[in-house]
Amino acid sequence: TLTPLNQLQLTSHYRQLPAHHYQSLTPSPLNNPWVASVNHDVAQKLGLDLNSLNLQELAEFASGQRLFNGSEPLAMKYAGHQFGVYNPQLGDGRGLLLGEHLGPDGILRDIHLKGAGKTAYSRFGDGRAVLRSSIREYLASAAMAGLGIPTTEALCIAGSTDTILREGFPEPCATLLRVTPCHIRFGHFEHLYHNRRFDELTQLTNYVIHRYFPKSAEADNPPLTLIREVILRNATLVAHWQAYGFVHGVMNTDNMSIIGETFDYGPFQFMDTYKAGLVSNHSDHQGRFAFKRQPDAMQWNLLCLAQCFMPMVSDDKKTAQSLLENELRRFSKLYQQEYLMLMRKRLGLQAYEQPSVDQQASAQQLKDTRDSQLIEDLWRLLEAQKTDITLFFRLLSETPVSEQQDKLATTCTYPSAFELWLRQYHQRVTEDHQPETERLAKMQTANPVYLLRNHMAQAAIEQAEKGDMTRINELLTVLQSPFSYR
Ligand code: AMP
Ligand code: MG
Ligand code: MG
Repeated sequence: TLTPLNQLQLTSHYRQLPAHHYQSLTPSPLNNPWVASVNHDVAQKLGLDLNSLNLQELAEFASGQRLFNGSEPLAMKYAGHQFGVYNPQLGDGRGLLLGEHLGPDGILRDIHLKGAGKTAYSRFGDGRAVLRSSIREYLASAAMAGLGIPTTEALCIAGSTDTILREGFPEPCATLLRVTPCHIRFGHFEHLYHNRRFDELTQLTNYVIHRYFPKSAEADNPPLTLIREVILRNATLVAHWQAYGFVHGVMNTDNMSIIGETFDYGPFQFMDTYKAGLVSNHSDHQGRFAFKRQPDAMQWNLLCLAQCFMPMVSDDKKTAQSLLENELRRFSKLYQQEYLMLMRKRLGLQAYEQPSVDQQASAQQLKDTRDSQLIEDLWRLLEAQKTDITLFFRLLSETPVSEQQDKLATTCTYPSAFELWLRQYHQRVTEDHQPETERLAKMQTANPVYLLRNHMAQAAIEQAEKGDMTRINELLTVLQSPFSYR
């Protein structure tokens, strides 16, 4: 059964937590709101009845003018490490958790209104979001979901006649209805740990276990099992970013999701061409969040989080430390395994069979090393040749081995640069004894035809600022299923 918008029912389990975790307040609505775009996939997850959807009504809800049934909005309190420095003063400075909604799939999802005005945690900020950045988040999160990469999503964007100054220029305001099971960041834990509120820290941990990791509740040491799971999820996440050329740009601990989703789209970029050292944030002077450093940044963030678990995993400090260090030490391996798995998918290479018992661990390792080398060689080549990543991988996945060298001429200036690599690749492909058509078909489910390109997002934004939503909706459609041609 589908629910009409005005009958959507929200709850607020988050309010079980002590008042120190949030500030209750209602949104400061935008004026003259209009809906810029609706993501039907997200609407479907919520069980929203799209046939009866009235856009004027949606604009009222999405701009903060009207509240969903049961909604008791709140701004979450959190802290975090920004560029390596602890900042206790963070929190939802321009967004409000409107409540949680139970979908027809049984998943409880937070509905969050981004751009809802000032809160207790706004500091010097104006509490607003502009249309430009809202569209970027809206499209990028849909693209992420389309690629199968864990991410927050967005139901819709509302535009407005209100404007706000950004770097001296007035820009149109907007709001975004963000939808995800979880808005809890590493910074939530840091806030309580660094204020030595250990009872509340335990309450938060129990809340997170109960809501997101119920299996951990049965473990011998639930907090330790929780951190293990968070490490696994975030190692998996960053492996996806590296395999698909996504630069997050602001990997501060307040932007890291406890369930391992891509969270907080700021100065991000999907790379068109590969640049290992790309920094996608003009205030990141040291290149802390450069593309190639993302796995390290994630590991560092997880270290900040793990520290908060010290009082919870054992009463003995030394024991706690060694337990947590053990978990953190597994990050690199988890990351490497996931990354190799994803890149093998992109290249159509089968993971080697795990052959018989004892002798094989090192043989396996050797083969992994060989594939990793092939992958690294390719990235270096793509970088040197400034080859478009998306076009290249798609071409590999559509072209029989025998024709690849010739076809390359359509994607790069110097196809001959790829000769040696292609020869090694072909040799490796042959070892799998996999029928070519089968391999190509599988590769086509891992190599998108479409990627959110900066210049396309920019063109859609410029149109939208003139009131024309055609491009946003076109991009949305192709990015939601990026593996098939439109
Ligand atoms: P971010 O760089 O998006 O991770 O944001 C860092 C902190 O600044 C968070 O506490 C945000 O809530 C806050 N913040 C970002 N933009 C604004 C804004 N326009 N008004 C108020 N607070 C903001
Ligand atoms: Mg943030
Ligand atoms: Mg942000």
